[in-house]
Amino acid sequence: MSPRRIRRILVGLLAGTVATIGAPFVGATPASATSLAATVCYNTSQAGSFASTAVQAASIWNNATNNVTLSQCGSNLRIYQIYGGGSYAIRNSLGNGSVYIDTYQAQQYSPLRIMTHEIGHILGLPDNYNGNCALLMSGGSAGTSCTNPYPSSGEASRVDSLFSGIPFAGTTGAQVFEGSWPAPAPVAVG
Ligand SMILES: [Zn+2]
Repeated sequence: MSPRRIRRILVGLLAGTVATIGAPFVGATPASATSLAATVCYNTSQAGSFASTAVQAASIWNNATNNVTLSQCGSNLRIYQIYGGGSYAIRNSLGNGSVYIDTYQAQQYSPLRIMTHEIGHILGLPDNYNGNCALLMSGGSAGTSCTNPYPSSGEASRVDSLFSGIPFAGTTGAQVFEGSWPAPAPVAVG
């Protein structure tokens, strides 16, 4: 048996295991040997007033990508509303983790941009604080006036590449992403 054939069988066994234990993804159905649509189940039960923002952000990511779908079908990704401390994301593994949206920060920066950015971390993207509003992962470095909630084509294709094949590839291990939305400089008075 060729190594290629053996690898295919191993991939098949791994896919079966994922389906059986129900984690980290559900509904992972191979469309072909090299293409796979993964489902990241997100939960807004603790998202408070940001629940609808999470739904909007999921829709943006679904429209921008081909290999991953966010759906309210479970708790791979939990969204939390918090008060103070800054918005952040904790990624346990690709497609699994928690997103925390700081209510006060969302009064300074676009809540939808914060949400899609933090979900971007769960989908495998790192920060890129280059101040470019066209990038989602530039976060707060693009300033409070930047309200762009859409990933660039490069950011979207990066997510697609991370979610292609089994096992999902890329440097997407456990990581905490903090400080993406710095407090704006205080306005000089007098
Ligand atoms: Zn970030």
